[in-house]
Amino acid sequence: MDTKHLGINSKLIHAGYKPDATGSVSVPIYQTSTFAFKNAAHGAALFAGEEDGYIYTRIGNPTIKALEENVASLENGCGGIATSSGMSAVCTVYLAFLESGAHVVSTASVYGPTRGLMEKEFARFGVQSTYVDTSDAENVRHAMKPNTRLVYIESPANPSMQVSDIAAIATIAHAQGALVVVDNTFASPYLQRPLDLGADVVLHSVTKFINGHADVVGGILVAKDPALYKRLRSVMISSGCNMDPHQAFLVVRGLKTLGIRVERAQQNAMEIARWLEEQPEVAMVRYIGLESHPQHELAKRQMNGYGSMISFELKGGFEAGRTLMDNVRVATLAVSLGGVETLIEHPASMTHASMSPEARRAAGFTDGLVRYAVGIEDVEDLIADLRQALDFVSAKSNKPKHEPVGTL
Ligand SMILES: *Cc1c(COP(=O)(O)O)cnc(C)c1O
Repeated sequence: MDTKHLGINSKLIHAGYKPDATGSVSVPIYQTSTFAFKNAAHGAALFAGEEDGYIYTRIGNPTIKALEENVASLENGCGGIATSSGMSAVCTVYLAFLESGAHVVSTASVYGPTRGLMEKEFARFGVQSTYVDTSDAENVRHAMKPNTRLVYIESPANPSMQVSDIAAIATIAHAQGALVVVDNTFASPYLQRPLDLGADVVLHSVTKFINGHADVVGGILVAKDPALYKRLRSVMISSGCNMDPHQAFLVVRGLKTLGIRVERAQQNAMEIARWLEEQPEVAMVRYIGLESHPQHELAKRQMNGYGSMISFELKGGFEAGRTLMDNVRVATLAVSLGGVETLIEHPASMTHASMSPEARRAAGFTDGLVRYAVGIEDVEDLIADLRQALDFVSAKSNKPKHEPVGTL
Protein backbone atom coordinates (compact mmCIF):
# COMPACT_ATOMS: atom_id res chain seq x y z
CA MET A 1 0.00 0.00 0.00
CA ASP A 2 1.24 3.48 -0.82
CA THR A 3 1.07 5.36 2.47
CA LYS A 4 2.29 8.75 1.18
CA HIS A 5 -1.18 10.30 1.18
CA LEU A 6 -2.06 9.05 4.70
CA GLY A 7 -2.09 11.06 7.91
CA ILE A 8 0.70 10.54 10.41
CA ASN A 9 -1.29 8.28 12.75
CA SER A 10 -2.18 6.02 9.82
CA LYS A 11 1.45 6.00 8.68
CA LEU A 12 2.51 5.00 12.19
CA ILE A 13 0.33 1.89 11.90
CA HIS A 14 0.77 0.98 8.22
CA ALA A 15 3.95 2.39 6.66
CA GLY A 16 6.84 0.02 6.02
CA TYR A 17 5.09 -3.32 6.42
CA LYS A 18 2.23 -5.29 4.94
CA PRO A 19 1.27 -8.84 6.00
CA ASP A 20 3.93 -11.19 4.60
CA ALA A 21 3.45 -14.60 2.91
CA THR A 22 2.23 -16.14 6.20
CA GLY A 23 -0.32 -13.34 6.70
CA SER A 24 1.34 -12.21 9.94
CA VAL A 25 -0.36 -8.94 10.89
CA SER A 26 2.43 -7.80 13.17
CA VAL A 27 6.02 -7.49 11.94
CA PRO A 28 7.74 -10.90 12.38
CA ILE A 29 11.10 -11.06 14.13
CA TYR A 30 13.56 -12.40 11.57
CA GLN A 31 16.05 -13.53 14.20
CA THR A 32 18.75 -14.64 11.81
CA SER A 33 22.27 -13.50 11.09
CA THR A 34 22.33 -14.68 7.49
CA PHE A 35 19.98 -15.47 4.56
CA ALA A 36 20.13 -18.47 2.19
CA PHE A 37 20.62 -17.81 -1.52
CA LYS A 38 18.48 -19.78 -3.99
CA ASN A 39 21.62 -20.65 -5.96
CA ALA A 40 25.03 -19.24 -6.85
CA ALA A 41 23.62 -16.88 -9.49
CA HIS A 42 21.12 -15.46 -6.97
CA GLY A 43 23.91 -14.85 -4.41
CA ALA A 44 26.03 -13.14 -7.04
CA ALA A 45 23.10 -10.95 -8.17
CA LEU A 46 22.40 -9.86 -4.57
CA PHE A 47 26.04 -8.94 -4.01
CA ALA A 48 26.17 -7.07 -7.31
CA GLY A 49 23.07 -5.12 -6.29
CA GLU A 50 21.24 -6.36 -9.39
CA GLU A 51 18.46 -7.89 -7.32
CA ASP A 52 16.69 -6.83 -4.13
CA GLY A 53 16.94 -9.21 -1.20
CA TYR A 54 18.73 -10.04 2.00
CA ILE A 55 22.30 -11.23 2.45
CA TYR A 56 23.38 -10.73 6.06
CA THR A 57 21.69 -8.92 8.99
CA ARG A 58 24.39 -6.25 9.44
CA ILE A 59 23.63 -5.17 5.87
CA GLY A 60 19.85 -5.50 6.07
CA ASN A 61 17.04 -7.50 7.69
CA PRO A 62 13.26 -7.46 7.07
CA THR A 63 12.33 -6.64 10.70
CA ILE A 64 14.80 -3.76 10.78
CA LYS A 65 13.62 -2.64 7.34
CA ALA A 66 10.03 -2.34 8.59
CA LEU A 67 11.21 0.18 11.18
CA GLU A 68 13.47 2.02 8.74
CA GLU A 69 10.71 2.43 6.17
CA ASN A 70 8.18 3.52 8.76
CA VAL A 71 10.35 6.29 10.23
CA ALA A 72 11.53 7.38 6.75
CA SER A 73 7.87 7.80 5.79
CA LEU A 74 7.07 9.77 8.97
CA GLU A 75 9.99 12.11 8.30
CA ASN A 76 9.23 12.42 4.56
CA GLY A 77 12.73 11.17 3.77
CA CYS A 78 14.04 8.79 1.14
CA GLY A 79 15.38 6.09 3.44
CA GLY A 80 16.09 5.16 7.04
CA ILE A 81 19.17 3.61 8.62
CA ALA A 82 18.53 1.99 12.01
CA THR A 83 21.49 1.86 14.39
CA SER A 84 22.39 0.13 17.65
CA SER A 85 21.96 3.35 19.67
CA GLY A 86 21.36 7.07 19.24
CA MET A 87 25.08 7.64 19.75
CA SER A 88 25.98 5.22 16.97
CA ALA A 89 23.68 7.23 14.71
CA VAL A 90 25.64 10.37 15.69
CA CYS A 91 28.94 8.56 15.08
CA THR A 92 27.72 7.38 11.66
CA VAL A 93 26.88 10.97 10.65
CA TYR A 94 30.29 12.25 11.78
CA LEU A 95 32.12 9.42 10.00
CA ALA A 96 30.10 9.83 6.82
CA PHE A 97 30.57 13.56 6.28
CA LEU A 98 33.77 14.67 8.05
CA GLU A 99 37.47 14.28 7.40
CA SER A 100 40.69 15.67 8.80
CA GLY A 101 40.62 19.47 8.53
CA ALA A 102 36.82 19.64 8.36
CA HIS A 103 34.85 21.95 10.64
CA VAL A 104 31.48 21.54 12.36
CA VAL A 105 29.15 24.18 13.78
CA SER A 106 26.95 22.79 16.49
CA THR A 107 24.32 23.75 19.06
CA ALA A 108 26.09 24.58 22.34
CA SER A 109 23.57 22.69 24.46
CA VAL A 110 23.69 19.61 22.23
CA TYR A 111 23.35 16.20 23.98
CA GLY A 112 26.45 15.78 26.20
CA PRO A 113 27.97 12.66 24.58
CA THR A 114 27.35 14.11 21.08
CA ARG A 115 29.66 16.97 22.00
CA GLY A 116 32.03 14.65 23.87
CA LEU A 117 32.42 12.34 20.86
CA MET A 118 33.39 15.32 18.71
CA GLU A 119 35.69 17.09 21.20
CA LYS A 120 37.40 14.01 22.64
CA GLU A 121 37.54 11.59 19.71
CA PHE A 122 37.00 13.27 16.33
CA ALA A 123 39.24 16.17 17.42
CA ARG A 124 42.12 13.63 17.60
CA PHE A 125 41.63 13.07 13.87
CA GLY A 126 41.82 16.79 13.12
CA VAL A 127 38.13 17.71 13.02
CA GLN A 128 37.42 21.20 14.38
CA SER A 129 34.18 22.26 16.02
CA THR A 130 32.50 25.44 17.18
CA TYR A 131 29.56 25.54 19.60
CA VAL A 132 27.11 28.39 19.44
CA ASP A 133 23.64 29.26 20.67
CA THR A 134 21.79 28.21 17.51
CA SER A 135 18.52 29.70 18.77
CA ASP A 136 19.90 32.82 17.06
CA ALA A 137 20.61 31.81 13.44
CA GLU A 138 23.01 34.76 13.10
CA ASN A 139 25.38 32.96 15.48
CA VAL A 140 25.56 30.13 12.94
CA ARG A 141 26.32 32.56 10.13
CA HIS A 142 29.22 34.05 12.11
CA ALA A 143 30.62 30.63 13.05
CA MET A 144 30.72 29.33 9.44
CA LYS A 145 34.20 28.81 7.96
CA PRO A 146 35.28 27.86 4.44
CA ASN A 147 35.89 24.30 5.71
CA THR A 148 32.52 23.92 7.51
CA ARG A 149 31.06 20.64 6.27
CA LEU A 150 28.30 20.12 8.79
CA VAL A 151 25.89 22.23 10.81
CA TYR A 152 24.62 19.98 13.56
CA ILE A 153 21.62 21.25 15.46
CA GLU A 154 19.46 19.91 18.22
CA SER A 155 16.05 21.53 18.47
CA PRO A 156 14.45 21.61 20.95
CA ALA A 157 17.76 21.34 22.80
CA ASN A 158 18.47 19.55 25.99
CA PRO A 159 17.97 20.73 28.77
CA SER A 160 17.90 24.41 27.83
CA MET A 161 14.73 23.88 25.72
CA GLN A 162 16.09 26.38 23.20
CA VAL A 163 14.46 26.14 19.79
CA SER A 164 16.47 26.81 16.61
CA ASP A 165 15.06 28.05 13.31
CA ILE A 166 15.80 25.04 11.10
CA ALA A 167 14.78 26.70 7.82
CA ALA A 168 16.88 29.82 8.46
CA ILE A 169 19.92 27.76 9.48
CA ALA A 170 19.54 25.48 6.44
CA THR A 171 19.62 28.54 4.16
CA ILE A 172 22.82 29.79 5.81
CA ALA A 173 24.52 26.38 5.78
CA HIS A 174 23.56 25.51 2.19
CA ALA A 175 24.83 28.86 0.90
CA GLN A 176 28.27 27.69 2.04
CA GLY A 177 27.93 24.11 0.87
CA ALA A 178 27.50 22.58 4.35
CA LEU A 179 25.01 19.85 5.23
CA VAL A 180 22.42 20.30 7.98
CA VAL A 181 21.83 17.49 10.46
CA VAL A 182 19.02 17.82 13.00
CA ASP A 183 18.77 15.73 16.16
CA ASN A 184 14.98 15.48 16.32
CA THR A 185 14.87 13.24 19.41
CA PHE A 186 13.08 15.72 21.69
CA ALA A 187 10.32 16.56 19.23
CA SER A 188 9.83 13.15 17.56
CA PRO A 189 8.59 12.99 13.94
CA TYR A 190 5.09 13.49 15.28
CA LEU A 191 5.81 17.10 16.26
CA GLN A 192 8.56 18.20 13.87
CA ARG A 193 9.80 17.17 10.42
CA PRO A 194 13.18 18.82 9.81
CA LEU A 195 13.58 17.52 6.21
CA ASP A 196 10.47 19.50 5.23
CA LEU A 197 12.18 22.57 6.72
CA GLY A 198 15.37 22.13 4.66
CA ALA A 199 17.55 19.77 6.73
CA ASP A 200 19.55 17.05 4.93
CA VAL A 201 19.64 14.36 7.60
CA VAL A 202 17.45 13.72 10.64
CA LEU A 203 18.65 11.75 13.60
CA HIS A 204 16.81 10.13 16.53
CA SER A 205 17.66 8.30 19.65
CA VAL A 206 14.75 5.85 19.26
CA THR A 207 15.39 5.03 22.92
CA LYS A 208 13.20 8.04 23.70
CA PHE A 209 9.83 8.91 22.11
CA ILE A 210 9.97 6.58 19.08
CA ASN A 211 10.18 3.42 21.18
CA GLY A 212 8.55 5.12 24.14
CA HIS A 213 8.61 2.29 26.68
CA ALA A 214 12.05 2.58 28.29
CA ASP A 215 13.02 -0.96 27.26
CA VAL A 216 15.27 -0.46 24.20
CA VAL A 217 18.37 1.57 23.31
CA GLY A 218 18.54 2.37 19.60
CA GLY A 219 18.94 5.05 16.96
CA ILE A 220 17.88 5.92 13.44
CA LEU A 221 18.94 8.24 10.64
CA VAL A 222 16.73 9.47 7.81
CA ALA A 223 18.25 11.02 4.69
CA LYS A 224 16.69 13.56 2.37
CA ASP A 225 18.03 12.11 -0.88
CA PRO A 226 19.39 8.80 -2.23
CA ALA A 227 23.03 9.95 -2.33
CA LEU A 228 23.05 10.86 1.38
CA TYR A 229 21.16 7.67 2.18
CA LYS A 230 23.72 5.52 0.35
CA ARG A 231 26.63 7.22 2.06
CA LEU A 232 25.14 6.80 5.55
CA ARG A 233 24.09 3.21 4.91
CA SER A 234 27.56 2.30 3.69
CA VAL A 235 29.19 3.78 6.84
CA MET A 236 26.68 2.02 9.12
CA ILE A 237 27.41 -1.30 7.40
CA SER A 238 31.17 -0.99 7.53
CA SER A 239 31.27 0.32 11.11
CA GLY A 240 28.89 -2.44 12.22
CA CYS A 241 26.57 -0.31 14.32
CA ASN A 242 23.42 -1.96 12.96
CA MET A 243 20.29 -2.51 14.99
CA ASP A 244 19.31 -6.03 16.04
CA PRO A 245 16.06 -7.62 14.73
CA HIS A 246 14.58 -8.12 18.19
CA GLN A 247 15.39 -4.52 19.11
CA ALA A 248 13.70 -3.39 15.87
CA PHE A 249 10.59 -5.46 16.62
CA LEU A 250 10.16 -3.78 20.01
CA VAL A 251 10.65 -0.33 18.50
CA VAL A 252 8.08 -1.00 15.74
CA ARG A 253 5.64 -2.13 18.41
CA GLY A 254 6.22 0.97 20.56
CA LEU A 255 6.18 3.34 17.60
CA LYS A 256 2.58 2.55 16.62
CA THR A 257 1.24 4.55 19.60
CA LEU A 258 3.60 7.53 19.17
CA GLY A 259 0.75 9.89 18.28
CA ILE A 260 -1.50 9.14 21.24
CA ARG A 261 1.45 9.00 23.64
CA VAL A 262 2.78 12.39 22.54
CA GLU A 263 -0.69 13.99 22.60
CA ARG A 264 -1.38 12.79 26.13
CA ALA A 265 2.09 13.63 27.48
CA GLN A 266 2.07 17.16 26.07
CA GLN A 267 -1.41 17.78 27.46
CA ASN A 268 -0.05 16.78 30.89
CA ALA A 269 3.07 18.91 30.34
CA MET A 270 1.11 22.06 29.53
CA GLU A 271 -0.94 21.70 32.70
CA ILE A 272 2.10 20.97 34.86
CA ALA A 273 4.13 23.86 33.36
CA ARG A 274 1.34 26.37 34.09
CA TRP A 275 0.96 24.97 37.60
CA LEU A 276 4.71 25.09 38.26
CA GLU A 277 4.80 28.78 37.29
CA GLU A 278 2.55 29.49 40.27
CA GLN A 279 4.47 27.59 42.91
CA PRO A 280 6.39 29.83 45.36
CA GLU A 281 9.48 27.56 45.35
CA VAL A 282 9.89 27.81 41.57
CA ALA A 283 12.01 30.64 40.13
CA MET A 284 11.54 29.90 36.43
CA VAL A 285 9.83 27.37 34.14
CA ARG A 286 10.99 26.61 30.62
CA TYR A 287 8.37 24.90 28.52
CA ILE A 288 8.04 25.58 24.80
CA GLY A 289 4.27 25.78 25.13
CA LEU A 290 4.39 28.73 27.54
CA GLU A 291 4.19 32.24 26.07
CA SER A 292 7.12 33.10 28.36
CA HIS A 293 9.42 30.76 26.38
CA PRO A 294 11.80 32.93 24.30
CA GLN A 295 11.18 30.93 21.10
CA HIS A 296 7.49 30.15 21.69
CA GLU A 297 6.42 31.81 18.42
CA LEU A 298 9.11 30.01 16.40
CA ALA A 299 8.11 26.67 17.95
CA LYS A 300 4.48 27.35 17.06
CA ARG A 301 5.51 27.91 13.45
CA GLN A 302 8.00 25.09 13.16
CA MET A 303 6.37 22.32 15.22
CA ASN A 304 2.96 20.68 15.46
CA GLY A 305 2.91 20.81 19.24
CA TYR A 306 5.11 21.61 22.22
CA GLY A 307 6.06 18.17 23.50
CA SER A 308 6.47 17.01 27.05
CA MET A 309 9.89 18.20 28.23
CA ILE A 310 9.96 20.79 31.01
CA SER A 311 12.97 22.38 32.69
CA PHE A 312 12.57 24.46 35.83
CA GLU A 313 14.74 26.29 38.26
CA LEU A 314 14.10 26.18 42.00
CA LYS A 315 14.75 29.29 44.08
CA GLY A 316 16.85 27.16 46.43
CA GLY A 317 19.28 26.22 43.61
CA PHE A 318 21.32 23.03 43.59
CA GLU A 319 20.35 21.80 47.09
CA ALA A 320 16.64 22.40 46.52
CA GLY A 321 16.89 20.43 43.27
CA ARG A 322 18.41 17.50 45.11
CA THR A 323 15.74 17.61 47.82
CA LEU A 324 13.03 17.61 45.19
CA MET A 325 14.52 14.63 43.38
CA ASP A 326 14.90 12.66 46.59
CA ASN A 327 11.25 13.14 47.48
CA VAL A 328 9.21 12.53 44.33
CA ARG A 329 7.26 9.27 44.45
CA VAL A 330 5.27 9.04 41.21
CA ALA A 331 8.05 10.45 39.02
CA THR A 332 11.18 8.30 38.84
CA LEU A 333 14.67 9.71 39.39
CA ALA A 334 16.37 8.56 36.19
CA VAL A 335 17.94 9.96 33.04
CA SER A 336 16.29 9.50 29.63
CA LEU A 337 12.89 10.74 28.47
CA GLY A 338 10.11 10.08 26.01
CA GLY A 339 8.71 7.02 27.76
CA VAL A 340 5.25 6.45 29.19
CA GLU A 341 6.58 7.09 32.70
CA THR A 342 7.54 10.49 34.11
CA LEU A 343 11.26 10.91 34.83
CA ILE A 344 13.10 13.61 36.75
CA GLU A 345 16.82 14.40 36.73
CA HIS A 346 19.45 17.03 37.55
CA PRO A 347 21.46 17.91 34.40
CA ALA A 348 24.38 19.63 36.17
CA SER A 349 25.25 16.55 38.24
CA MET A 350 24.00 13.88 35.83
CA THR A 351 23.52 14.18 32.04
CA HIS A 352 25.64 17.33 31.63
CA ALA A 353 28.16 16.74 34.43
CA SER A 354 31.00 16.38 31.91
CA MET A 355 30.56 20.02 30.84
CA SER A 356 32.36 22.75 32.79
CA PRO A 357 30.12 25.19 34.74
CA GLU A 358 31.10 27.88 32.19
CA ALA A 359 30.12 25.64 29.26
CA ARG A 360 26.81 24.90 31.01
CA ARG A 361 26.12 28.60 31.41
CA ALA A 362 27.04 29.22 27.78
CA ALA A 363 24.65 26.44 26.81
CA GLY A 364 21.88 28.32 28.57
CA PHE A 365 21.28 26.53 31.86
CA THR A 366 22.25 26.79 35.51
CA ASP A 367 23.31 24.29 38.16
CA GLY A 368 19.91 24.49 39.86
CA LEU A 369 17.95 23.41 36.79
CA VAL A 370 15.72 20.34 37.07
CA ARG A 371 14.63 18.38 33.99
CA TYR A 372 11.18 16.86 34.11
CA ALA A 373 10.17 14.46 31.31
CA VAL A 374 6.41 14.16 31.51
CA GLY A 375 4.78 10.77 30.95
CA ILE A 376 1.21 9.69 30.39
CA GLU A 377 0.11 9.17 34.01
CA ASP A 378 -2.93 11.02 35.40
CA VAL A 379 -1.88 14.66 35.61
CA GLU A 380 -3.52 15.10 39.04
CA ASP A 381 -1.18 12.48 40.45
CA LEU A 382 1.89 14.11 38.92
CA ILE A 383 0.93 17.52 40.31
CA ALA A 384 0.17 16.13 43.78
CA ASP A 385 3.51 14.31 43.68
CA LEU A 386 5.43 17.48 42.80
CA ARG A 387 3.57 19.47 45.48
CA GLN A 388 4.41 17.03 48.28
CA ALA A 389 8.06 16.96 47.14
CA LEU A 390 8.13 20.79 47.00
CA ASP A 391 6.87 20.79 50.62
CA PHE A 392 10.15 19.11 51.58
CA VAL A 393 12.00 21.85 49.67
CA SER A 394 10.24 24.69 51.50
CA ALA A 395 10.49 22.92 54.87
CA LYS A 396 14.26 22.72 54.40
CA SER A 397 14.68 26.32 53.31
CA ASN A 398 12.61 27.57 56.30
CA LYS A 399 14.78 25.73 58.78
CA PRO A 400 17.15 27.97 60.80
CA LYS A 401 20.67 28.00 59.32
CA HIS A 402 22.22 26.72 62.57
CA GLU A 403 20.58 24.00 64.58
CA PRO A 404 19.72 25.22 68.11
CA VAL A 405 22.52 24.23 70.45
CA GLY A 406 19.93 22.89 72.89
CA THR A 407 19.38 23.51 76.58
CA LEU A 408 21.78 22.54 79.27
C1 LIG B 1 19.52 10.05 24.36
C2 LIG B 1 19.91 11.01 23.32
C3 LIG B 1 20.93 10.73 22.40
C4 LIG B 1 21.74 9.45 22.45
O1 LIG B 1 20.97 8.32 22.26
P1 LIG B 1 21.25 6.86 22.89
O2 LIG B 1 20.13 6.07 22.36
O3 LIG B 1 21.26 7.02 24.37
O4 LIG B 1 22.59 6.43 22.39
C5 LIG B 1 21.20 11.67 21.43
N1 LIG B 1 20.53 12.84 21.36
C6 LIG B 1 19.57 13.15 22.25
C7 LIG B 1 18.87 14.47 22.13
C8 LIG B 1 19.21 12.26 23.25
O5 LIG B 1 18.26 12.60 24.13
